[in-house]
Amino acid sequence: MSDVFKGSFTQQEPIPEAGIEAAVAVMRSGRLHRYNTVAGETAQTVLLEQEFAASIGSKYCLAVASGGYAMATALRAVGVKAGDCVLTNAFTLAPVPGAIAAVGAVPVFVGVTPALVLDLDDLEAKADEGSVLLLSHMRGHICDMERLMAICDAAGIIVIEDCAHTMGASWKGKASGTWGKIGCYSCQTYKHVNAGEGGLFVTDDPEVAARAIMYSGSYMLYQSHLAGPPPETFAKIKYETPNISGRMDNLRAAILRPQLADLATQCARWNERYFAIEAGLRGTVGLAVIERMEEESIVGSSIQFLLDGWEGASVQELLRCCAARGVELKWFGNAEPVGFTSRYDSWRYVDAPAMPDSDKVLAGIVDMRVPLTFTLEDCAQIARIIREETSRIYQSAA
Ligand SMILES: *Cc1c(COP(=O)(O)O)cnc(C)c1O
Repeated sequence: MSDVFKGSFTQQEPIPEAGIEAAVAVMRSGRLHRYNTVAGETAQTVLLEQEFAASIGSKYCLAVASGGYAMATALRAVGVKAGDCVLTNAFTLAPVPGAIAAVGAVPVFVGVTPALVLDLDDLEAKADEGSVLLLSHMRGHICDMERLMAICDAAGIIVIEDCAHTMGASWKGKASGTWGKIGCYSCQTYKHVNAGEGGLFVTDDPEVAARAIMYSGSYMLYQSHLAGPPPETFAKIKYETPNISGRMDNLRAAILRPQLADLATQCARWNERYFAIEAGLRGTVGLAVIERMEEESIVGSSIQFLLDGWEGASVQELLRCCAARGVELKWFGNAEPVGFTSRYDSWRYVDAPAMPDSDKVLAGIVDMRVPLTFTLEDCAQIARIIREETSRIYQSAA
């Protein structure tokens, strides 16, 4: 065993000094609640909403407690009721079907292709099984959004985008989260901006925005939402919409604003690391890198590759050998959910039919985090370790 990687796959960068200073100022003021402002003051939460809406070109934005809360709110805001079926990805993470279950609705899973995007043929085949699609851009892989929107528009399906892994990414230059009716983002530590927890919700639809603001727990203070729709939009909605508290506070917003201002730079740094690892893995026998589409502008905060046709035991051995050399890989083929990784058949509260084509893809997906605390030398070393272990195990299994 030659080199061992000593870095951490879960260590993020510190909060920028400007964010720490802004957070301390909020704490000194004591006004952490978004509606607790003095005359002439605009809450940090409101400023964050305005800045985020402007940065991605959305009309309205609402800051909330988590990405999961944003998704559940989105489902409620478009009228999903208990017992309704909601289309969603078979390849995603637990908060996505969880948001559907949170409103009492039933997930209907749509398959994954070897490019790790939603299988649009399967979507077309299931288009009459739900009137809402909660589309997860899982691990930052964006499907052909024009074709997806054409399928959904033709079938009258409302699209809600889960952009937990695509904040800063786009398809054909149009920001992820602005293709469908609603975009949902997470500000949790392992995503593209870090407030510990938090979420953002964007839409161009004034009624959807008004309902989301009411749901989030705005009482009758909606007029302070400067990134919200005009007051008349709330005329009826304010009486009809239950308060399901899930606001963001000013402390988190203060931490997030400088990070949002830096997002483009951070995305470029992620991509340098992603493409350094990809270059190191390319050409490894037994391993396929995922080819990214030309239309896709990505944020490489994690990387996936496929071990096509490998026995489960060999994949497990690869994971063990890489771990012994400091490289933490996750496998989506595991029958048991482990850590953050689970799959559609792990969510046994859903009665999901087997999806053999997707199972074949999932069985080969290996996943790795790419934190910005890695240097480019770290990335080259990690790729070298994966390459050596893959070649060795693949050849001994052949
Ligand atoms: C993290 C994540 C979410 C939700 O984020 P939280 O802020 O943790 O609720 C949604 N979808 C995917 C794919 C995620 O990884």
